[in-house]
Amino acid sequence: MSANAVNAGSEALPAAAPPVALAASPGGPARPNLLGLSRDELDAFVASIGQRPYRARQLVQWMHRRHVLDFDAMTDLSIGLREELKSAAELSAPRIIREERSDDGTIKWLLDVGHGQAVETVMIPEPRRTTLCISSQAGCALDCAFCATGQQGFNRNLTAAEILGQIAHASAAIAPDTISNIVFMGMGEPLANYRNVITVIRLLLDDQAYGLSRRRVTVSTAGIVPQIRKLAEDCNVALAVSLHAPTDELRNELVPINRRHPIDELLAACWDYAEVIASRQITFEYVMLDGVNDSLAEAKALIRLLRGRPAKLNLIPFNSFPGSSFRCSSQTTMDAFWQTLNAAGIVTTFRRPRGDDIAAACGQLAGRVEDRRRVRLGDKLGVRRT
Ligand code: SAH
Repeated sequence: MSANAVNAGSEALPAAAPPVALAASPGGPARPNLLGLSRDELDAFVASIGQRPYRARQLVQWMHRRHVLDFDAMTDLSIGLREELKSAAELSAPRIIREERSDDGTIKWLLDVGHGQAVETVMIPEPRRTTLCISSQAGCALDCAFCATGQQGFNRNLTAAEILGQIAHASAAIAPDTISNIVFMGMGEPLANYRNVITVIRLLLDDQAYGLSRRRVTVSTAGIVPQIRKLAEDCNVALAVSLHAPTDELRNELVPINRRHPIDELLAACWDYAEVIASRQITFEYVMLDGVNDSLAEAKALIRLLRGRPAKLNLIPFNSFPGSSFRCSSQTTMDAFWQTLNAAGIVTTFRRPRGDDIAAACGQLAGRVEDRRRVRLGDKLGVRRT
């Protein structure tokens, strides 16, 4: 199947899926990319070319179940309909520029999203599950002090087709139906690209498309509070929050979005969110930075924030990257930190770095962000950078 799969139609993508109403101009410049359409948009498109509704279901299954992005390979559509689709629409995913395989089985792909930008996608095999870590933006505006993506600045939001294209490529490259979990932990801040990310999540949960359960789709956010609250209403998938510091003073420096949405506001949204998800629990991520956020005092402050709350904590050893000025905490310090939290009854785990030999671990995704716009949050907030 992979021969017919996503490699077709890998030319430059339009900046965004155009409105469906424009689709009825066959061959015109505004042909929609069907890969990124929501179910409603696809239904409207199918109706706009005079086809019956079940055609939309067939298209969904070809694109999001079989990962076939070539109209000619859709053998249960008549040749006439395939020709009509070719002139009224397109079906394209970002092109793979590079694939790297780690000794531990992790695979990283670099994908061309046009105009000199490239994003990374990582597949992480584990004994009982296979997780795909996807990117939602080219670069990132949030400017977290310890993150390779943030250092590059921000270029733009990815379209839904560009996000789904990452999943289609990965699905086609490995054994069918292997991917069991999807995490928005690649490049970018998913909640800053809300509309497109929601379109993707709805397809991930749709039984006729990816058919994943809500527990197996995780949005990771640095803490854009209004969007966390909105997500609770729109799509209550699992939530991971990049906490990284127990006080506003420190978090303002490490995760500058904290200046807009401080810890108490963030946690209040998290506790409300926990009530609407199956696991009833929020995962907090905490990167271990030597001498910065790893003292006993910080462990105790974390306990005060999280004890008795629907929270689990995931400690992430800092993964270094060229130009970073941080170091990972020592093993002894990390063990003591873990011990203190666990003893206080906070469920605390360590994230084992995966794919670090190919720079595929958390925070190492750099892709390629050229022509970046100077709109990093730190610049906007006037955060001093050294
Ligand atoms: N914008 C989202 C997704 C980011 S990546 C968010 O902030 O959650 C997923 C996780 O990797 C985040 O918790 C992020 O803070 C963390 N991370 C970033 N850089 C890292 C690094 N160099 N080492 C370890 N973890 C890092």
